[in-house]
Amino acid sequence: MVKNVDIVIIGAGFSGMYAVHRLRKDYDVLCFEAGDGVGGTWYWNRYPGARVDIQSVEYSYSFDEDLQQEWRWPEYFSAQPDLERYANHVADRFQLREHIRLSTMVQKMRFDAATNRWHVHTDKGEEVICRYVIAATGSLTVPNAPNWPGRETFTGDIYHTTQWPREGLDLSGKRVGLIGTGSTGIQAAPLIAEQADHLFVFQRTPVFSMPSGNRPLDAEYENEWKSDYAGRRKEMLKNYGASLVEYTDISAHDCTPEQQEAMLEQAWNSKKAMQMLVVFRDVMTDMAVNDIVCEFVRKKIRETVKSPQTAELLCPTTYPIGGKRLCVDNGYYEIYNRDNVTLVDVKSDPIVAYTPSGLRTAKADYDLDVIVTATGFDAITGAMMRIDIEGVDGVKLADKWSDGPTTYLGSMIAGFPNLFMIHGPTTPAAQAQMITTGEWQVNWTADVIDDMEREGYARIDTTPEAENQWHDHVDMISEGTVHKLADSWYNGKNIEGKKGGFMIYVGGFPQYSAACTHAVHNDYEGFVRSRSDA
Ligand code: NAP
Repeated sequence: MVKNVDIVIIGAGFSGMYAVHRLRKDYDVLCFEAGDGVGGTWYWNRYPGARVDIQSVEYSYSFDEDLQQEWRWPEYFSAQPDLERYANHVADRFQLREHIRLSTMVQKMRFDAATNRWHVHTDKGEEVICRYVIAATGSLTVPNAPNWPGRETFTGDIYHTTQWPREGLDLSGKRVGLIGTGSTGIQAAPLIAEQADHLFVFQRTPVFSMPSGNRPLDAEYENEWKSDYAGRRKEMLKNYGASLVEYTDISAHDCTPEQQEAMLEQAWNSKKAMQMLVVFRDVMTDMAVNDIVCEFVRKKIRETVKSPQTAELLCPTTYPIGGKRLCVDNGYYEIYNRDNVTLVDVKSDPIVAYTPSGLRTAKADYDLDVIVTATGFDAITGAMMRIDIEGVDGVKLADKWSDGPTTYLGSMIAGFPNLFMIHGPTTPAAQAQMITTGEWQVNWTADVIDDMEREGYARIDTTPEAENQWHDHVDMISEGTVHKLADSWYNGKNIEGKKGGFMIYVGGFPQYSAACTHAVHNDYEGFVRSRSDA
């Protein structure tokens, strides 16, 4: 049966849920969600230790004053169950569920240029015809799983961290292999180490991590926020990462070594997750300064980990701090002082196969009962690319993006009219606090749609020229930053054979949002709007 609605929203994560709330007052909206619950990232990532690394008073919705006043976060950095509980609370409180179709994947979409309608097909066999599509498909949605041979021969269980069983997993008495030491792996490792008989951590590239200093949220601090929540939210949006980390104007070059050390120590103990990256104003732009911070973290690792050999293996040396997303941990380095934890260096001795009893590296076999792959995601483009999307003149998105994603403002793709992305390629994405910036992008998108309706337009598209100019700008601002100097999901280098350049806007959220606002205020610069009879 074919259904007609105004707007289809893909994904009921935090941005998709807010899009439903924002738009359903004026439009007929329908949201498809692959999971059988809401919350997106915080629905799927239920591995032990999963928790946000931005303080929860910030990492939460701002759109409703009563919600932000009434909701109470138990901890400074909330754990996954609390974030999922919050997503469900919001879905119930704002009656979003009636617009959300769970356990339903959008498989295919085709734009009909004659009617200016998208035809959206789901895995449940239904077709929905709509005027606009908002893809709130998430930056970190499609798991990246290693494809070594022999997977089917392994007699134990294999779990990617996004596929953790809902009922939990009893790892006591088990020999567990954890592959991957990104933000996910370093969060899971301490919890697994506490339970397992033995934990083998298979590390290819060590990460820089700082202690989160997580703690129960104290009432005084919470009240401080709530006394002027709206004001603080406004301040957040003026900051690079849409977060109230403490920025400084001081260059490391203007400090004595003793002053540098004192500032680094203070940042390390700040209990504010990203503080190491802003301890001096030039950490992200001056390699000499960046080296000072790197060496400080390496010193902390060497002080924490008793085995000098293990400590050296844990010290990152091949890329600058901040080049990959900084990790934030709860006792990660400390686990290597336990008798039941072994660090395996798979850079020098790579994993080559699954075996019936575990994993094989080039030089050794490891007997394991459970393998956990914390191997990350086909990030940023993965979720869009797994949908068969056909734009004007039968052009497929997979073809258009075969050499890497092209967008204008990270929001629209030339030749794919009336299709908007939230946190799309070349938005600040994880460089900025994703709930608040997702809300901002949804509001911007909703305003664009409102303008279309009010002014009698039927189609909005962008142009290859606008895309090129935007990409030149995105490239230009990433030059000279540390981001260009690391292989990671930011540039797709974490996925073998993935093409495309740097996919994140690193000019900061204020500059990004100003570009979006400027385009609209400048008579929709870079966009082409047309009426149905045009
Ligand atoms: P990730 O940062 O991409 O890390 C994946 C890890 O798996 C890396 O250590 C990688 O090694 C390793 N790996 C991948 N393929 C491998 C292979 N074939 N053999 C050996 N090792 C392999 O992924 P993630 O840890 O899931 O984190 C992704 C992002 O999610 C983070 O950057 C962050 O934005 C977000 N996140 C946030 C939180 C939080 O808020 N606290 C928690 C988790 C995740 P290489 O580095 O050598 O490729």
